[in-house]
Amino acid sequence: MSNVYLLLGSNEGNRLNWMQQAIGQLGIKSGNILRRSAVYQTAAWGLSDQPDFLNMVVLLETGLQPLALLKNIQEIEQLAGRQREIKWGQRTLDIDILLYEDEIINLPELTIPHGFMQERRFTLAPLAELAPDLIHPTLKKSIKTLLLECPDQLEVHTYEQQ
Ligand code: ADP
Ligand code: MG
Repeated sequence: MSNVYLLLGSNEGNRLNWMQQAIGQLGIKSGNILRRSAVYQTAAWGLSDQPDFLNMVVLLETGLQPLALLKNIQEIEQLAGRQREIKWGQRTLDIDILLYEDEIINLPELTIPHGFMQERRFTLAPLAELAPDLIHPTLKKSIKTLLLECPDQLEVHTYEQQ
């Protein structure tokens, strides 16, 4: 079994519901969810003219190899009605593989550790909640340090459930 950190994100429709559905599906199709962060809210990154994002990180224990897991999470995104049209556009559900044990993978369809995680506060903040002392396999710094050094100015705060 391998420990994997996944980032869940949604900025369309019932955002909390999509993430709950993702957690349920991951439990059925991909492995065991061992831990989950709080839910964080952020202004949209990249293309700013769209609704705010909710994000959270989950720790998944899986028997799937990385490419099989990627296929799996893409099926879960499809179930949530995700349309892949605009890069960085509005989406019901996005699932990214941040870290897969301490593996380093550079394939056209899969980069692990996720290539942008050190640039995105909305990724580092929930990840640092679960794994502050984990060392990033290529940058060789802890998640806590990466968060402190992160230049991203977008505000990230925990989401108060209404
Ligand atoms: P993004 O998450 O960058 O907003 P998408 O979710 O549409 O965009 O993903 C685009 C592609 O990124 C996917 O088709 C997938 O093959 C690729 N990809 C590369 N590395 C990863 C990763 N670590 N986790 C998830 N997808 C990845
Ligand atoms: Mg994605």
